[in-house]
Amino acid sequence: MSNSLVPNDLESNHILKLHYFVPSERKLWTIIGKNNEYWLDPELDYCSCKHYYYKTLSGKEKCQHLKIFNEFLKKNNYDKIKFSDEEYSGFLITLIKDILRI
Ligand SMILES: [Zn+2]
Repeated sequence: MSNSLVPNDLESNHILKLHYFVPSERKLWTIIGKNNEYWLDPELDYCSCKHYYYKTLSGKEKCQHLKIFNEFLKKNNYDKIKFSDEEYSGFLITLIKDILRI
């Protein structure tokens, strides 16, 4: 890996989390990086990290989180956390505030 934006030990420092809302079965994925938690949307190929913003959006390449997401998923290497639907909007607000650092 020669990309300087991606630390070599990235993979070992990541924990993928599935936030699963019932009964609607809505899913939100987050991945914990070195300093931040990022919001991943695999269906939209979206990630809230800087790499995504600068590189993926301009069509260059997927960010590391989106790349390793599939690996983690295949290995069932993630935590599944159940929430109720009433918690959904509150969770989303917290997540967005976190990402935008409001
Ligand atoms: Zn990312």
